[in-house]
Amino acid sequence: MRKFVYHFNEGSKEMKYLLGGKGANLAEMTNIGLPVPPGFTITTEACKDYNEHHQYLSDDIYTEMMTHMEILEQETGKKFGDAENPLLISVRSGAPFSMPGMMDTILNLGLNDQSVQGLERVTQDARSSYDCYRRFIQMFGDVVFRIPGYRFEQALSDLKERKNYTLDTELTAADWQELIAVYKALYVSASGREFPQNPLEQLRLSITAVFDSWENPRAVVYRRLHHIDNQLGTAVNIQSMVFGNTGDTSGTGIAFTRNPSTGDNVFFGEYLLNAQGEDVVAGIRTPEPISHLEDTMPDVYQQLLDVAALLELHYLDMQDIEFTIEKGELFVLQTRNGKRTAQAAINIAVDLVHEGKISKDDAIMRIDTAQIDQLLHPSFDETSLANASVLATGLPASPGAATGQIYFNAEDAVTAAERGEKVILVRNETSPEDIEGMAKSVAILTAHGGMTSHAAVVARGMGKCCVAGCDAIAIDETKKTLQSATATLHEGDFLSLNGSTGNVYVDQIPLVETEIGGHFEELMGWVNETKKLVVRVNADSPNDLEVGLHFGAEGVGLCRTEHMFFQEDRIPYVRQMIIAESKEERLIALSHLKAMQKTDFAGIFRVANGKPVNIRLLDPPLHEFLPKTDADIAKLAQEIGKPADEIKQRVHDLAETNPMLGHRGCRLAITFPEIYMMQAEAIIESAIAIHDEGIAVYPEIMVPLVASREEIALIKKQLKEAIQTIFRKEQLVLPFDIGTMIEIPRACVTADEIAEEAQFFSFGTNDLTQLTFGFSRDDANKFLYAYQEQKILPTDPFQSIDQKGVGALVTTAVQRGRMTNPSLKMGVCGEHGGDPASIQFFHKLGLQYVSCSPYRIPIARIAAAQASILEEQQKVKI
Ligand code: ADP
Ligand code: MG
Ligand code: MG
Repeated sequence: MRKFVYHFNEGSKEMKYLLGGKGANLAEMTNIGLPVPPGFTITTEACKDYNEHHQYLSDDIYTEMMTHMEILEQETGKKFGDAENPLLISVRSGAPFSMPGMMDTILNLGLNDQSVQGLERVTQDARSSYDCYRRFIQMFGDVVFRIPGYRFEQALSDLKERKNYTLDTELTAADWQELIAVYKALYVSASGREFPQNPLEQLRLSITAVFDSWENPRAVVYRRLHHIDNQLGTAVNIQSMVFGNTGDTSGTGIAFTRNPSTGDNVFFGEYLLNAQGEDVVAGIRTPEPISHLEDTMPDVYQQLLDVAALLELHYLDMQDIEFTIEKGELFVLQTRNGKRTAQAAINIAVDLVHEGKISKDDAIMRIDTAQIDQLLHPSFDETSLANASVLATGLPASPGAATGQIYFNAEDAVTAAERGEKVILVRNETSPEDIEGMAKSVAILTAHGGMTSHAAVVARGMGKCCVAGCDAIAIDETKKTLQSATATLHEGDFLSLNGSTGNVYVDQIPLVETEIGGHFEELMGWVNETKKLVVRVNADSPNDLEVGLHFGAEGVGLCRTEHMFFQEDRIPYVRQMIIAESKEERLIALSHLKAMQKTDFAGIFRVANGKPVNIRLLDPPLHEFLPKTDADIAKLAQEIGKPADEIKQRVHDLAETNPMLGHRGCRLAITFPEIYMMQAEAIIESAIAIHDEGIAVYPEIMVPLVASREEIALIKKQLKEAIQTIFRKEQLVLPFDIGTMIEIPRACVTADEIAEEAQFFSFGTNDLTQLTFGFSRDDANKFLYAYQEQKILPTDPFQSIDQKGVGALVTTAVQRGRMTNPSLKMGVCGEHGGDPASIQFFHKLGLQYVSCSPYRIPIARIAAAQASILEEQQKVKI
């Protein structure tokens, strides 16, 4: 018979697919001797079985579970549902991947009108016993009967108001009993059913509710956002309760072995005295920093430090630990690899190498390239910041800076974001229902909750700026207002947040790019030692190139000359060149452009300082440059001294039905060879000028949109002649290469022929994807989402290379190219050059380099190093 239930001492951390992350780690902690309340795990296989059996828990699983309940009764010396000494349990969901707060947990299960009296007798504490009972009724109602949590909260706050209390801790046993009666009535009015008194019925309903919670909408959204497989299912953990709500020597908290925002190696966390589980996360009261525990309960604090050190050494990573203290005794309820900011991830990984706990390769593999994006996010412009006034200060829950318009619920936030606004979601506290709104916002502000509140944890995971627990402001979610001592803001007003300091500003503050600090440089040094792919930058200006070099670019992979042509002062000459009806006329325009281009190239060569610079000859869809309106035409007529009518006629003649498939790229040079010759001259003459300044230069001249050997052969001959003329005149020869962009399927399949003429190939994967699929780059987003939703395509092929189709063409081109030209240099300059999955593919193909936009460079470098490490690891396995 299949085994569906594992006692904690039967599992291990390796079993997370079967036991879920929580269950596997509870088992591991039990086995290494930590104080974990006993319990067992019902597997994810049981969840699948339940779903396959149309939401019915099979008799086999039920019977097996009951055997483990008996063992649990023996271990604890208590009996489930007993009126004398009742066993109370928690029913906790736990999927293979952590989905914080996404699914349901029920505490204190097993209580009913009789057993609560038993609990009271055993604990000699009526207040905490009835507190447990009302919590159970509330959670059970929420999770199992879907009675909205706020209806219970409302009943509680009504009672507090009536009794003139501010804190939950002020309620007496009698008050709780009064509330329990209200809660029970709520069951009947909201669901038409009584609160079930039979503990076995409570148990069965709770387990199936946890299985069902796998499919609840917020969990589904979370999985979509985090690319978690829908088929995995959740496990259910049944664990005997410990009580943090039994007075001031009890409490509950969350601790991180290192600071999850900065990565500093200091113990970090929060706790609440006289409280149970959810209270810290839900932000009901503002928790105390963990360091205070050292003053109040030094022994427990020391024990907690020991547990933290042990767990970190065991898992070799920063841990996020849940604990409860029951009358001075410490219990550990959960551990997992803690979520952290990108900066913290880098600092922790590097520190762990220094501490001798992990290898450099491990450190590199632990960096989540998607998260590194977060580091490259902007911060506030200093001068504007100096003039901004602080509205309030909350907790710095997730770093970064953001400015945007405020909305008071997830739905409004989503709508505004879809209108194109930058949105800051403002809530008293967030809950898992808000997840989509949080994802669509640039930042999150909450009035309640601490550093480990839902808002803080989720924002850090998403890499979003968050200020939490900002209690100096009052938020009215119904009226949609935010009130501080000095101002009242409404929906749509601007606010700026600094998630690193907790400051909230009324103004809109401009953002600037940030520096990456901490151990980043050291990590990137290891990356350079490890990676084989060279990473170049796509740069059209000296400024782009400077940013790229700052981030570690090793050359220019693509300099697009048409971007230079777009500048205001050049457009008339570009237009004159295009509409010229004779070669003479065109040469006049070209001589102006040549002077300008020489300055451009010189600027780039100077900054590149000897690194290769790949310059692509003109590749414009011509229509982009032509004057469109009559006014434009009249203006151009005046500028170049030509009748407007003639220009109009010429524009009309040049118009194309399908410009992207039209007279562009090297086709332009077939009809007007003087254009590319002018560019080649500008490149070589400026190279000579820079060489004369004593700076090394290495131009690579790239011919775009080549489909055949004959095209490149003809163009190369013309370019070489122009270049040789200059060399002869200057009595100087400089190294340079002439190669092609490979971006047409025909070029891939005839690459052996093209390689005989080309010194390099640079794969233009954007056009290659467009032409392979026949998807227009400019319009495909209108339907590609449906392709992804219906799983026709796994990802957007313009973002991550389609390995099967486009990738096969690239592979063919690489093989054929090498066949006839073994010294052929090959790289990628499309958007895919900055995409980690694509980079892994290009690494395997043995290309020499990838090229991407300046801010993607660190990501590309790390991805390239990860690709090398993965390859080595796979070799070892074989
Ligand atoms: P989540 O996955 O949302 O964190 P958990 O299953 O970890 O949900 O439980 C929610 C809260 O209840 C946590 O604070 C946890 O520490 C607490 N809790 C869970 N089981 C027990 C237990 N057996 N005794 C006391 N507290 C518990
Ligand atoms: Mg938990
Ligand atoms: Mg192209």
